[in-house]
Amino acid sequence: MRQSKLFTKTAKNAPKDEITLNARFLTMGGFIYKVMAGVYAYLPLGLKVLNKIRGIIRQEMDAIGGQEILMPALHPAKNWQTTGGWDNIDVLFKLKNRTGKDYALGQSHEEIITPIAKETTKSYKDLPVAIYQIQWKYRDELRAKSGILRGREFEMKDMYSFHASQEDFEQFYGVVKEAYLRAYQKLGLTAKVTEASGGVFTEKISYEFMVLTDAGEDDILYCPSCEFCVNVDIAKQKQGEVCPKCGQGNLQQAKASEVGNVFDLGQKFSRDFGLTYTTQDGKSDYPIMGCYGWGTTRTMGVLVEKFNDKKGIIWPEAAAPFKVHLIIVDEVSRQKTEEIYATLNKAGIEVLYDDRENKSAGEKFADADLIGIPWRVIISEKTLKENSVEVKKRGEQEAKLVKIDNLAKIFHAQ
Ligand SMILES: [Zn+2]
Repeated sequence: MRQSKLFTKTAKNAPKDEITLNARFLTMGGFIYKVMAGVYAYLPLGLKVLNKIRGIIRQEMDAIGGQEILMPALHPAKNWQTTGGWDNIDVLFKLKNRTGKDYALGQSHEEIITPIAKETTKSYKDLPVAIYQIQWKYRDELRAKSGILRGREFEMKDMYSFHASQEDFEQFYGVVKEAYLRAYQKLGLTAKVTEASGGVFTEKISYEFMVLTDAGEDDILYCPSCEFCVNVDIAKQKQGEVCPKCGQGNLQQAKASEVGNVFDLGQKFSRDFGLTYTTQDGKSDYPIMGCYGWGTTRTMGVLVEKFNDKKGIIWPEAAAPFKVHLIIVDEVSRQKTEEIYATLNKAGIEVLYDDRENKSAGEKFADADLIGIPWRVIISEKTLKENSVEVKKRGEQEAKLVKIDNLAKIFHAQ
């Protein structure tokens, strides 16, 4: 894509009302546009990043047998009244139509998927089944000021699974956990799983997927030797103590950001909606349900909070809007740069080509630092004489000279 044609331009200064780093860099770079507090539009660069994140999650959910659907954001009040959510969830976004009828904007979709499953899931032979979607969610927040980390409107992948037994749910939870950890790893994130048990109130477990980042809003204790990880708020241990699970590692404290969660829903929703199935011995029972959330827009914000420097964003390759930022710094190299751009495009490499004529090299480099595309290719008369171009990785100081003929090959190998 040619930067001269790009819908958005960069801004030198961050908007005054944005406090968080994710909102500042993403707005300055032209990734997002704030429509109102907690509600953002995703512009071409931003949508490309979001699509990359969606793609990685989709791939992992499909690989473990998840089936994708799309449920509505607008819900009848009745479904939420059936489960008690209408009165009990204070952030539930409620609205009335012109005849005074009540509706809700979904903040989760158990209220929609369970009645659907009632039509489709009748026998033990239909279980287990896992259904997911990637859809916008709404929370009636009084204040929203964390950029895209916590919005009034945000996007999530939410999956719902139905099981004939608790053991089957636990087994599937393990499968989802591995899929989540693989997806985080692809995004360059280190995730830990904390067990946020209901404790005395319920035997039901819930898990939170925490990504280690200094910008995180949670403090966790984790063991470097095993999987033990707990939120400091509910931890009985302290930093430096020996891990209670493996007895080997010393617990370390770190800041983390929650990017996913799992809830053992038990039979709550299947009972509320009368979703039953016929068991193997001909009886009727309610399936056990699990819910698996992953904030996609939030993940984009966390990536920015984690991967940046003073100059801007440093996207991990898997989430970057483009792989290569091609920059021409002098007009005499124009024709050669056009050829290189065409060659890279033909090779299927995603390139943002800064072809702008009225910008200095310094301005172009500053924009490239802000936007944060992983690889920068600089074309100048000086190196062209040696049939070479300068290649530099975002976040690294040293550039290296690469022969033009090898350029596409190098990016394919990355
Ligand atoms: Zn341990």
